Amino acid sequence: MGLQAFLSQKVVTPRGSEPAAVLVEDGRILDVVAPDQLPAQIPVKDFGEAAILPGLVDSHVHINEPGRTDWEGFRTATRAAAAGGCTLLVDMPLNCLPATTTVAALEAKREAANRQCHVDWMAWAGVVSDNQEHIESLAAAGVPGFKCFLIHPGIDGFTMVNEAELRAALPHIARTGLPLLVHAELPGPVDEATRRLAQADWSKYATYLQSRPEEAELSAIQLMLSLCREYRFHLHIVHLSASEALEMLRTAKSEGLPVSAETCPHYLHFASEKIPDGQTLFKCAPPIRNRENRETLWRGLREGVIDLVATDHSPCPPEMKRLGERSFQTAWGGIATLSLALPVMWTEARRRRFSLADIARWMAEGPAQLAGCAARKGRLARNFDADFVVFEPEAEFIATEEHLHCRHRVSPYLGEKLRGVVKATYLRGNCVFADGTFPGDPSGRELRR
Ligand SMILES: [Zn+2]
Repeated sequence: MGLQAFLSQKVVTPRGSEPAAVLVEDGRILDVVAPDQLPAQIPVKDFGEAAILPGLVDSHVHINEPGRTDWEGFRTATRAAAAGGCTLLVDMPLNCLPATTTVAALEAKREAANRQCHVDWMAWAGVVSDNQEHIESLAAAGVPGFKCFLIHPGIDGFTMVNEAELRAALPHIARTGLPLLVHAELPGPVDEATRRLAQADWSKYATYLQSRPEEAELSAIQLMLSLCREYRFHLHIVHLSASEALEMLRTAKSEGLPVSAETCPHYLHFASEKIPDGQTLFKCAPPIRNRENRETLWRGLREGVIDLVATDHSPCPPEMKRLGERSFQTAWGGIATLSLALPVMWTEARRRRFSLADIARWMAEGPAQLAGCAARKGRLARNFDADFVVFEPEAEFIATEEHLHCRHRVSPYLGEKLRGVVKATYLRGNCVFADGTFPGDPSGRELRR
């Protein structure tokens, strides 16, 4: 592919947004230049007032393939990603069969993904109760890091780890230098709260919320921080919901511990006060908490205590949401977000006077750093992959089923009025999404660390 240019009045780089042209050759960004420095006689695509942002990187997605392709899958998840302006997904190691806890399972995933993907992908590997001896070979096979659960993950087949099992795994993880992503809730406080709620009305969101107290997150994070101090590995807290934990994380960071944290669009957009009873579409773990908690999470982002935003996109077949039964006890926990993450985040961020450069930092550069690919993904800069999204920041729309593009058209975001429309997405200089269509054959590749 020869040299071409993509022009906009709002090209978003770490410096902010400004009129510029992104020069692309052979799938890479050759340079980002001022409009008056456009080389003569090259093809130019002018997006005018629409912004050009770096392709988003979503470091927390449950693709569920192989094995549970009826829940989601590489083809559908990467379509939803492309429609949402996301050009790299990092897949979580559970819900798929086999779970990604050995190199053989990783190879099965690679086989399943082959030629199906509309955007690039990577795979986190799992740390479970009995796979310590696989950790270093998984790292050698190209995974960017590991994920573990400190509480039952809601599905059998991917075991949680206790402190003793963590201590068996951590020397291996520290040797790889790769991050350990932790679902930080301890079972003790959840079990105790749930016992007290045996007679409660589980169609009420308040019952579910009480069953997953902040204390579960706080005690888990405290345990992980002390292990981090002892073993010196990169600790990453996924989907932080309890804002009370920010203080602990702030202190750990100022102490120089290698700690990072993410939160999700649903914790930054919804509030428990507004969740109708019986609406199990809102169920996820840890749970969506109250408005005040949400505003404190936003302060955590502002101060940089929270490093990034990832979706935790985790769909299931609609019947598993038990919408007829209205029970928060039996419904599957997980929210489908992928294609709507950017408008949801922009709607909320703009209200709080954040900029598109902040969005790019939280949703592209930050996750790329976590996944170890920040030298080629997550920024509009020289030598980076020419992955970008064309975004109309002032346009508004109502989220409907046709915006979802994932396998099941079910999400608590349906009906929300959102600001910002993804017009087009480019992967290595090629258009992979434009105005509701997916041109070209699937050209996404696996990125290995
Ligand atoms: Zn998850």
